[in-house]
Amino acid sequence: MSELARAYLDNNATTRPAPEVVEALLPYLTERYANPSSMHLFGSETRKDVERAREAFAAAVGARASEIVFTSGGTEGDNFALRRGLAARPGRRKIVTCAAEHPAVLDTAKALAAEGAAEVALVGVDAQGRVDLDALRAEADARTALVSLMWANNETGAVSPISEAAAIAREAGALFHVDAVQALGKIPLDVKAAPIDLATFSGHKVHATKGVGALYVRRGVRLPGWTTGGRQERGLRTGTENVPGIVAMGRVAELLPEHLERMGTQVRALRDRLEGELLARVPGLRVNAGEAERVPNTTNIGFDLLEAQTILLLLSEHGICCSTGAACSTGSPDPSHVLAAMGQSSEIASGGLRFSLSVYTTEAEIDWALRHIPAAVAKMREIRAAGGREAPRAGAAR
Ligand code: PLP
Repeated sequence: MSELARAYLDNNATTRPAPEVVEALLPYLTERYANPSSMHLFGSETRKDVERAREAFAAAVGARASEIVFTSGGTEGDNFALRRGLAARPGRRKIVTCAAEHPAVLDTAKALAAEGAAEVALVGVDAQGRVDLDALRAEADARTALVSLMWANNETGAVSPISEAAAIAREAGALFHVDAVQALGKIPLDVKAAPIDLATFSGHKVHATKGVGALYVRRGVRLPGWTTGGRQERGLRTGTENVPGIVAMGRVAELLPEHLERMGTQVRALRDRLEGELLARVPGLRVNAGEAERVPNTTNIGFDLLEAQTILLLLSEHGICCSTGAACSTGSPDPSHVLAAMGQSSEIASGGLRFSLSVYTTEAEIDWALRHIPAAVAKMREIRAAGGREAPRAGAAR
């Protein structure tokens, strides 16, 4: 790999669209541009293509086509699920979620509390990032409208016990929403295998495209519409469909079984090699949530007392792309709320660096990362030992 090469290890932030996906969607940016709601033949062709994509995506997650609503992505899906899930349970106004959730859930829950629309209870996680099921059992009660938990954590990759959590919510008579954005394509996932009512998915995390996602709404769950002004998506999410994006979701759904297989073998082996060699070569590192069940593509490495953000910037100079947490919080001086929820002090919580791989990650990229990470850490430690600042600081990190 040349000096200018890139090691893209930030796939939990976004992924490269699969070539098969790009090929499938291109005609929808050129000749197949009709509005699927148009009555003419041209429109009815794209309507069929949208419905075919819905069927393919539904099949990939164990749902029926009629249970899939296309959205603009994970953030919208989470907002939709929390706000309309709450409205679907009149007489109940409590939302139970977890301190380590993605901001798309946490901030929506906080906004609902600030608006006076909901009372929010946050359950904790243990030191390995595993949700506290006893706390969930205690909080999910007859006042609870909705329980919302993530299937896999975006920062650490820790997998939550979704079946148990969903059963607890069902027992309390609450709706159960799972943010499955970081689980799809990484671990086997079937929305019917547990009492899941709502599930959020995002296209760009699984080699489809940005600006498209899906919300699973179990048959029998009646949500008020999310938008008004049209009848698309059965009146639940109105507005002219993002046809290229939806076609991308359908095409990627067909690739997911193969991606999943490669995740469990090739990607896991590369992640484990990166993690194992870093731990062997660099003293004072730890794998955050390393003892939890994790998705195969993610490792979150803690560097005691060193600022992860500064290491990230040093690595970026060598074309190594990684993250200190959720991409949307990059550049923020706040320590990771996920590591903080796991009980790490703010000094340590600023030390987590996330490397996330994909089915396209190569051995050469891992070699490149392994060549530069130990040197970057050593450089930072030297500066620290000499009493200097850990320059460069943030600003360029977006
Ligand atoms: N939920 C989780 C767990 C995520 O990791 C993300 C993105 O990082 C989202 C929701 C938001 O998804 P999107 O980028 O599609 O809005």
